[in-house]
Amino acid sequence: MEFYSRRARSITPYTAGEQPKSGIYVKLNTNENPYPPSPRVAEAIASFPCENLRRYPNPDADDLRDAIARVEGVSRENVFVSNGSDEALALAFAAFFDDERAACFADVTYSFYEVFAAMFGVKTHVVPLQEDFALDLAAMREAECGGYFIANPNAPTGIVVPAGEMEQFIASVPQKLVVLDEAYTDFSGETCAPLIQKYPNLLVIKTFSKSHSLAGIRCGYAVGAPALIGGLMRMKNSFNSYPVDAVCAAACAASLADTEYHDRTVRLVVEERERLRRALEGLGMTVLPSGSNFLFAGRAAVPAGEIYARLKEEGVLVRYWNRPRISDFCRITVGTPQDDDILLEKLKKILS
Ligand SMILES: *Cc1c(COP(=O)(O)O)cnc(C)c1O
Repeated sequence: MEFYSRRARSITPYTAGEQPKSGIYVKLNTNENPYPPSPRVAEAIASFPCENLRRYPNPDADDLRDAIARVEGVSRENVFVSNGSDEALALAFAAFFDDERAACFADVTYSFYEVFAAMFGVKTHVVPLQEDFALDLAAMREAECGGYFIANPNAPTGIVVPAGEMEQFIASVPQKLVVLDEAYTDFSGETCAPLIQKYPNLLVIKTFSKSHSLAGIRCGYAVGAPALIGGLMRMKNSFNSYPVDAVCAAACAASLADTEYHDRTVRLVVEERERLRRALEGLGMTVLPSGSNFLFAGRAAVPAGEIYARLKEEGVLVRYWNRPRISDFCRITVGTPQDDDILLEKLKKILS
């Protein structure tokens, strides 16, 4: 502690979901994909020429940028690649906000935003969600700030702002930057990424961690106007100029190429999400509408904190926050039908 800077002493780090070492848990707490990555990822890694690891990788991961640009229908200059999308989000705080130019976000959203703001000394403006957990875009529009961080679908609620409504919002704040965190967008089927061609104030951030089943590889990206990508590059090159390793870049490009596998596994997760929703509602739980790979469920016969603790005793991990407004909900990742059946069986016992 005595060696810590004032910043290190004052910051409250983000707490990630538990990653238990033993295999006894049905793990539905960190929104990982229940299916393995595309077989093409394994092929790309197995055939990677290891002698190349002697060299530094391309600093901007240009081959992967090109692969992403093709999928998103944009150009290389519109793409920035990062070590997990968390890194792109962090660099966006550093590049576009400061102690005078505030970042605005919801009271209930990805809890990393407030940590990044503290890390980079960014002023914040927090706007409460509405009573039904919908984003209050009207209040956000009026907020005195330099821009926004909006998770869409939101986390941990899963609620989606439809693309049309989001476009109206982006168009209504041309002087402010809108950073859309679309970590779960493949499960809602609605992305705003194509809008970056039309709105120079829009930056869309995506990840390989969720729909591509590659949380372990740590890769994400941002798409936006070249000026915004340039801002992220300035920060990257002032911090870690080679954030994406060569094996990672090859694996992610291979995953992008297998659209058939991606679409199929996304469809399986979405179908299972709706089955799980009906089952949870059947157990008397309130389940928020979700466009993601998780459900926010609670307000049941037993308090959510107790449900979380008793599920854990039974070997099933879900995520719980003892925080205002959301303390009577658990966030449950959609698993395989088999895993979800185990969850449902335990829940039935706990709630009866
Ligand atoms: C999972 C998640 C991310 C992505 O994290 P990675 O660093 O890409 O693994 C970003 N935003 C939200 C809201 C998330 O839930």
